[in-house]
Amino acid sequence: MAMILEKINYKYPDSNGLAVHDLSVTIEEGHFIALTGQTGSGKSTLLRILAGLYAPSSGSIELDGGRELKRSARLVFQYPEDQLFCESVIEDVEFGPKNQGLSQIDMEKRSFDALHAVGISDDLLDVSPFALSGGQKRLVAIAGLLAMDPDILLLDEPTAGLDPETHEHILDILKALVEDRGRTVIIASHSMDDVAEYADTMLVMNRGRLLLNGSPEKIFQYEDALTSVGLGIPQTVRLLSDLKRSGLPVDTTAITKESCLKELTCKLVNYVL
Ligand code: ADP
Ligand code: MG
Repeated sequence: MAMILEKINYKYPDSNGLAVHDLSVTIEEGHFIALTGQTGSGKSTLLRILAGLYAPSSGSIELDGGRELKRSARLVFQYPEDQLFCESVIEDVEFGPKNQGLSQIDMEKRSFDALHAVGISDDLLDVSPFALSGGQKRLVAIAGLLAMDPDILLLDEPTAGLDPETHEHILDILKALVEDRGRTVIIASHSMDDVAEYADTMLVMNRGRLLLNGSPEKIFQYEDALTSVGLGIPQTVRLLSDLKRSGLPVDTTAITKESCLKELTCKLVNYVL
């Protein structure tokens, strides 16, 4: 299900400028999309528009097939753990699917599966969410999203402030939803390393406008453009471009850790021989 945005503008009632400016983009289904841009560039506002929570001041959003945005796309806010409110973990996760008209058994299955997927163990199901650690709360909030099983999952900086292990775990779960189940995932992210590792499409925003849209392999070749809007390049690309500059003919589009290592091994072996 593609999502087509045409000339979207959004202005907060109490501000002068536009938070999102003339933004047009088509988001094809089954992609892992990273929305990047420095603080204040409009990422969170755009995610709220995509979730149907804010109506654009002008412009249109269409889902092909005429489906309704609010039913198809679900947003997990930044620091979703602040929004847990039920008395137990399981009630919190069941809250979303309960309102989707599922049978009791389907609703329970979805909720258990979602909690298992994020790695919350059964002995925590009846515990108050307030008794959990910060990382566990985040996982419960994300399980709530998974339990609703939306076609389009929107997450605002889902790994902010998490330990490295939980950080990777969450991104792995999201990637599996894209690869194995054809869902569309859109995350706002500050980490170029995460974008390189997980996303297949990258949108770069600057002052409410969409500046770049393409594959991370391609966009990370434009270091100057990224620097000019307060962003950087991933460590892999940094290493490869430094080596290239010093004369080793490496391919700087090997942006994931695995492909970078492969590229280095291959080129260094050739170099030594
Ligand atoms: P990002 O998520 O990329 O940091 P935001 O979407 O939060 O960016 O903000 C985009 C712009 O809208 C910024 O200029 C910000 O100051 C402004 N903004 C965000 N939220 C509000 C609000 N509730 N009221 C007025 N202006 C806002
Ligand atoms: Mg934000």
